Amino acid sequence: MNYISTRGQTSPHTFTQAVEAGLAPDGGLFLPDHLPSIADKLDHWASLSYPALASEFFQLFAPEISPEEWTSLTTHAYSRFDSPDVAPLRKLNDRTFVLELWHGPTLAFKDFALQLLGLLYKRQVKQKGTALAVLGATSGDTGSAAIHGCVGQDGIQIFILYPQGRVAPLQERQMACTGAANVFAIPVPGFFDDAQRVVKECFADTYFVSRHHLSAVNSINIARVLAQCVYYIWAWLRLPSAARSKVEFVVPTGNFGNVLAGWLAQQMGLPVHSFRVATNQNDILHRFFSTGEYRQEDVQPSHAPSMDIQAASNFERYLYYMLGQQPDKVREVMAQMKAGSPVQLPRSVSAIRSSRMSDAEIERCIASVWKDHHYVIDPHTACGFADLAQDTTSVVLSTASPAKFPDVVTQATGQEPTHPTLEALKSLPLATHPMAATADAVKAFIAAHS
Ligand SMILES: *Cc1c(COP(=O)(O)O)cnc(C)c1O
Repeated sequence: MNYISTRGQTSPHTFTQAVEAGLAPDGGLFLPDHLPSIADKLDHWASLSYPALASEFFQLFAPEISPEEWTSLTTHAYSRFDSPDVAPLRKLNDRTFVLELWHGPTLAFKDFALQLLGLLYKRQVKQKGTALAVLGATSGDTGSAAIHGCVGQDGIQIFILYPQGRVAPLQERQMACTGAANVFAIPVPGFFDDAQRVVKECFADTYFVSRHHLSAVNSINIARVLAQCVYYIWAWLRLPSAARSKVEFVVPTGNFGNVLAGWLAQQMGLPVHSFRVATNQNDILHRFFSTGEYRQEDVQPSHAPSMDIQAASNFERYLYYMLGQQPDKVREVMAQMKAGSPVQLPRSVSAIRSSRMSDAEIERCIASVWKDHHYVIDPHTACGFADLAQDTTSVVLSTASPAKFPDVVTQATGQEPTHPTLEALKSLPLATHPMAATADAVKAFIAAHS
């Protein structure tokens, strides 16, 4: 199994090389050169634990890592989840299930990928014998999940920039209260885009990047997408057989990484009927899947901040398949998008269903799910409860714990959601490293600390 770029101008990479590179050198995104069939494996996989299933799955994609090592990696990656099922599937009624993806250390689904990615970085450090500096920008969940994937790991320093005063207080605490000497939470003035710009400028200095073995943590690493395929298979295997004939996964969506993983599992033979992309008021993907037109607008901050995105970075991978796996066509469409012009794609591209929810609808939805099912959901998960299909088994992916968003949830349900992990954070000392939003300041800091 090799990894190719969506833009077709990168030589084949092994899994390990593709993970290390993150972005393909031609500016495209890595994908496996073929999708193995998993249909005939599902019976056997039904009895496996979550880490064992993840190990079997990854062995198909990275044969250069031995089965024993994969089992060790996935066992470690999911050992810090607080549910024995890792991803428990809850039944609300015969047609509606919720897949809880927030039992990891930072209480959001990004832990599924980033706990494993931290271990893959560690493996790389050990094999190469050189330390690694991991750098990224975050608006909240990715940064804290990345930090908790790298916390305390020898040979890895992690530097995460975020807009000062613009991430939720609990998210900042998750990044800045680890007490670990290898973690640097860096607030900078401005918005997320300012933090992101500084990170990009640091990576543009190729001498600095190679001198400090800088590695980017962002949403496009192929290991993240593959790690997310596993819970779709897991959830499908946990459904009662009567419910399996017509299954729709409903995915609260921002960068399109999560739903792409499910769609890839379907292409490999997981018998899923359909997917629905659930957006908040930042509805570029809803507009795209309902009209075929991809047109960017300004981001409007919402109750579901991790989905406040207008440029879905993983969308290019889906485009690659929809455009018949022709890299020249991908390059053409991506150039149009980059120029900011709206892009009209063939109708067949819009094969995924979609929905949107305003902030007012999110509040009403959290209240009604609480009233009908005595079940508390967070604002991101709430977006998934729009237009549940009638004749279908819906599996709504719950991407964050309601305890991460106490204000909206308390207002809607009258109950204040709490979680012991978050309560413990409130009394820990905060260690941040504020600095100017310039690449020079950040590079000097990295040089002094790696
Ligand atoms: C990141 C995130 C999302 C969006 O996931 P994508 O893979 O970017 O589509 C949704 N909900 C929560 C809580 C998140 O942290």
